[in-house]
Amino acid sequence: MILFQDTNITIFQSSLFQTNSIVVHTEDLVMVVDPGWLPAEIKQIQKYVNDIRNGRPLYVFYTHSDYDHIIGHGAFPEAKIISSDSFARKKDKEKVIEQILRFDDSYYIERDYQISFPEPDIIIKEDGQSLTAGHTSLFFYLTPGHTECSAACLVEPGGILIAGDYLAEVEFPYIYHSSYQYEQTLSKFKKALLNPYEIHMLIPGHGPAADSKLEIEARRSASLRYIEQLRGLVQENKIDQSYNLISGYPFPGIMNKFHEGNIQLIKEELTR
Ligand SMILES: [Zn+2]
Repeated sequence: MILFQDTNITIFQSSLFQTNSIVVHTEDLVMVVDPGWLPAEIKQIQKYVNDIRNGRPLYVFYTHSDYDHIIGHGAFPEAKIISSDSFARKKDKEKVIEQILRFDDSYYIERDYQISFPEPDIIIKEDGQSLTAGHTSLFFYLTPGHTECSAACLVEPGGILIAGDYLAEVEFPYIYHSSYQYEQTLSKFKKALLNPYEIHMLIPGHGPAADSKLEIEARRSASLRYIEQLRGLVQENKIDQSYNLISGYPFPGIMNKFHEGNIQLIKEELTR
């Protein structure tokens, strides 16, 4: 399940949706990001964290509240929870819990922790908000667009950007909240790349990481292009043609549905 490992970071990838659960480990702290999905996968992450923790403070950062990203909540009861302000104030939390319960019910899944919605101890309220311990700095950014509550984290040392559900190679933008805010978030990622901190690796919520600025920029422009072109085609009512935009992606059955969702959302945005 370990996809990548170096001094400061270990990426675990679930068999489901290529979802990345990340463990950040610096000399000063350990932070788990979006632990998921299956009980055995979560156990492996728990065991890993137990083995390496060595008394360091433990955090869990949730990049956003989609059920696949919070399904492991409860597996690290002693951790301090970090999330965005809008995550903390989310209105329909019970709907997310229902999705998890339905998933577990569909696949006979039993867990040894209680499913619940995370209540953050540390709330991200503004871009660049930091958490510093010893030589480690975590810089958080609000990244609405995919969902309203999305957030990202830049880890120093290491120059690692934990992006949440953005900039995946395996999927085009899934826009549940706002295509305009999605575009603004993509600009924010660009600015983060130009920061005083050098980004060496970007880890999206799903699929492979990007380990060069060139690759990150390629993914960023592909996302921007998709949104711009889709908006244009929806405006001209060329819906059939819009499916060409996703013809290169690997899982057409489910991805057509996400694309349809994007079309609906953009239609609504354009008639507002
Ligand atoms: Zn996701």
